[in-house]
Amino acid sequence: MADRPIRCLLFVAALLFLTAPRVPAQAPAPPPPDLLIKGGHVIDPRNNIDAVMDVSVSGGKIAQVAANITPTASMRVIDAAGLYVVPGLIDIHAHVFFGTEKDAYLSNADSAVQPDAHSFRSGQTTLVDAGGSGWRNFLQFKEQVIDRSRTRVLAFINIVGSGMKGGPVEQNLADMDSRLTAMRIKQHAASIVGVKVAHYSGAEWDPVKRAVEAGTAMNVPVMVDFGNNNPPQSLEDLLLKYLRPGDILTHMYAHVAGRIPIVDEQGKVRPFVFEARKRGVIFDAGHGGGSFLFRQAVPAMKQGFTPDVISTDLHSGSMNSGMKDILNTMSKFLNLGMPLRDVIKANTSRAADVIKRPELGHIKAGAEADIAVLGLRKGSFGFIDSGGNRMLGDQKLECELTVKAGQVVWDLNGRSRPMWTEGSK
Ligand SMILES: [Zn+2]
Repeated sequence: MADRPIRCLLFVAALLFLTAPRVPAQAPAPPPPDLLIKGGHVIDPRNNIDAVMDVSVSGGKIAQVAANITPTASMRVIDAAGLYVVPGLIDIHAHVFFGTEKDAYLSNADSAVQPDAHSFRSGQTTLVDAGGSGWRNFLQFKEQVIDRSRTRVLAFINIVGSGMKGGPVEQNLADMDSRLTAMRIKQHAASIVGVKVAHYSGAEWDPVKRAVEAGTAMNVPVMVDFGNNNPPQSLEDLLLKYLRPGDILTHMYAHVAGRIPIVDEQGKVRPFVFEARKRGVIFDAGHGGGSFLFRQAVPAMKQGFTPDVISTDLHSGSMNSGMKDILNTMSKFLNLGMPLRDVIKANTSRAADVIKRPELGHIKAGAEADIAVLGLRKGSFGFIDSGGNRMLGDQKLECELTVKAGQVVWDLNGRSRPMWTEGSK
């Protein structure tokens, strides 16, 4: 008799379970519409296009890039007059392994950013996580972030097996295994584009050497966040001895403890830095919260030492301070005299080449339809560096519209939408 109320409760629970509405984990995206982006100034450096053109999209792919494409009945026409139409932007240094682990810095932690919450509103269609995960927790990163994001998420995996968890975890030489790192890259070559070294403060070169070993085994680049070593290590040795052509120095305009900056006390770019560029080392802006100083960037740019790639080092700190987003960071370089075409190239075809994904970062017919439509505002704007200093500029990029795989995923002014007087809802 005593178990009767329990049986009753079980029955009610079972009934509730069976009758509860089933919510799919993620609603399937509707099929992409045919689009015609009309009258914009197309900059597609890979295909050498820098002119007013129309871009049509069908089935999620670029159908045609040409002058005056005639709209068909199935096309949704987007007026892009006065705007720039460029390939979807690629950010090769972001931190998107967000999660809830305590004291885990940028590896399954809340200082990392949910990709879709930040990417599309800045014209980005590809984000590369820079070392959040290592071979041990890459699968968790894939399941938790890569597989659930509409943004294309790729990864440099950390030479530290446990990834970028900060503190002693990143100092553990015993957890830096080139063989296991290479194995993980081989298993997930579709997502992993390289190996990251960061934050090691010891005197040994082992983290760099082991990352290069893994990178050589799998033919992928190594990205190095250099500095904080005690005693300091030689930047010249890193750039001329340890890194291979195609490897990347991120935070190129930083001046941090334990690393000499690329611009010396007299304001000159050090000769070995030019030499490193000549031998094929890639220099990446990697703005971040502490790695972009006007005192470095301004003299370097005047001497022609511009970035190969302009990345954000996105995390919750940098996005709420001087960095803000990729377009604010690109705008700094525009205002420092880098031509718009070069700025776009740094974040499209060049970025794609650096991560060895040449199929990305351009909009030739047949390519996946990843497109950013940008406005270039003229006026008076202020920009902040990671030293907290301000620079004034007269131009600023703004994202009007982003297309990912043929879907409009960001539309600032409703350019792809019918007027409310004509809509059906
Ligand atoms: Zn970083």
